[in-house]
This record gives sequence, C-alpha cells and structure tokens, in this order.
Amino acid sequence: MADNKRRFRPISGNVLPRFAGIPTFMRLPHLAPEEAEEVDIGLIGVPWDGGTTNRAGARHGPRQMRDLSTLMRNVHHVTGVRPYELANCADLGDTPVNPVDLEDSLARIQHFFETVHGQGIMPLSAGGDHLVTLPIMRAIAKDRPVGMVHFDAHTDTWDRYFGDYTYTHGTPFRRAIEEGLLDPKRTIQIGIRGGLYTPQDKDWGLEQGIRVIEIEEFFELGPQRVVEEARRVVGEGPTYISFDVDGLDPVYAPGTGTPEIGGFSTHEAQIMLRGLRGLNLVGGDVVEVSPPFDPSGNTALVGVTLMFEILCLLSERVAQQAKN
Ligand code: MN
Ligand code: MN
Repeated sequence: MADNKRRFRPISGNVLPRFAGIPTFMRLPHLAPEEAEEVDIGLIGVPWDGGTTNRAGARHGPRQMRDLSTLMRNVHHVTGVRPYELANCADLGDTPVNPVDLEDSLARIQHFFETVHGQGIMPLSAGGDHLVTLPIMRAIAKDRPVGMVHFDAHTDTWDRYFGDYTYTHGTPFRRAIEEGLLDPKRTIQIGIRGGLYTPQDKDWGLEQGIRVIEIEEFFELGPQRVVEEARRVVGEGPTYISFDVDGLDPVYAPGTGTPEIGGFSTHEAQIMLRGLRGLNLVGGDVVEVSPPFDPSGNTALVGVTLMFEILCLLSERVAQQAKN
C-alpha cells in the first residue's frame, strides 16, 4: 500500500461509545464508490429482497447489520489477524435498487458492483436475499468464472418458479453457472437440507459437478474435514464466499425468511471460515438476514460477526497480493 494513501480505520469504542454516532459497517468511514480509489475492500449493503418467494424482509438487512456491526472490534481473537492494518477498508453504502422492478434492480446492483470492481476494490456485501449474489457475480466474474464456497440450507440451483419465472432467491447459482460466471466443478455447497419439490431437484447441480455436502455428511465429517474438502474443491483459482444465514440452525439465526431445522452452529461456521485462510479470494457476502423476523437483533449480530471473519480472510489476501 503506497504511503500517500489515506488510511481508513473504524472508530474505536474507547473513543466514541459503541451506542453513539452514525452506524456504518464496522464503524468505518462511509465513502461513495466513485471516491474510493484508495480502498482495497468495500463493505456494501444490498437492501433488496425482490427475489424472496415466501417471507420477505431481507431488504432491511443492511441497516440492522450496520447497527449491530458497531459491536465488532479490530483484532481476530484466534488468528490475531488485524484486517484494518492489512487492507484499507470502507463502507461504500448501499447499492441503488428498485423495489417494484426485479430486473431493473438486478441491473442497478450490477452497475454498482462494476464501478467497485473497476477500481480494483474487493467487495464484501450484506444482503438482501440470495438473488443479489447473481448481479454481484455478473460484475466481478465477467472475465473468468469464479469458484465458490457456499454455506446454505438450500442449493439455490432450482430452475423455475410460478411457471416460467427464472429469477428468485432459489435460482441464482443455476443462472450463474448457465451464464459462465460460476465454475460448478470448483463449487462446494455446505449444510444442504430441507424438503424438495420433486425427487429430481438434487440432480441438476450434481450433474454439473458441484460438490454438495448435505448436513448429514457435515455432521459425519465435522467442520475441519469439511474445510479440507472445500480447499480441495476450489483449489488455487479465484474463489467467492457466499454465506446464507439459513445454513445455520435456526436456533442461532431465526431471523431469516426460509429457516430449516437441523443446521450447523455459529461456532462450526467460524471454524470453517477460519479454515479458508490463504485461498485466492475475490469477495464474499452474507445474505438473508431478515430484521422483521429478528426482533432481538441476534441474527444480524451473527451475520456481521461472520462478515468480520470473511473480512479477515479478504484482508490477508489483499496483503498477500501487495507483496507479489
Ligand atoms: Mn441461499
Ligand atoms: Mn437458504
């Protein structure tokens, strides 16, 4: 990082109490993407849930997650990573959305991430429902497909809903694979469970070569061996982390639109994310936090703590790239 760059750091809870001030992600400065050329990692809200097929509300996720992110501190207590020393980070605000037009929203979100990507900024996003990952990938995986470590109760590779409708939060990764943005052979899905519409619903993803770890296999292997498998699947190529909070058991993350019982715990999620250090990461997101179902704010706290885990991984990647 060049010395003449402005350095951005969170406001310390020892300077201004955590309940005071305007909440931004991690208490970082807020910059518009056009004025963020010095930024390495941009924290971005995507306040949109127009892809939700049942219980809406994730459009309110970024605001509640910003509020709860004021509880985050600067040093990772296990790895010792200090993300704000390794990478210049800022809150780049929310993407524009159009709450009454799905395809217009996808275009607006994509355009925002193209601006971010064009400045060499790595995005770490807060949804929004899971369809928001599709326009993010359209912006950052245009030149070559990415691999993905995907935590979720659902594969999100279903094809159509309500007849012929192809865009919902149950379809983003089917579309991303069809569009050549996501390499299915470098994709692993962890925590999959819940009922299906038809017995064939599992087939398409497996036929494409996705490594699917259903929750039964997760509990058989344990988080450490699941992480080894994830590292084997994604290899050394560019890799995106997408974390749907409904992958967690609903006792840990009840504030979400499509809960499924029998999931992994928050600590197991942390162990898995810490196991992804050193991968060739290009960005990540935490999606499906739905504040109307999260009156205590705990699901948002879980979401932003996972964002901090991912931020530590991305900052190490930034520091590694700066050396090369
Ligand atoms: Mn999902
Ligand atoms: Mn899900």
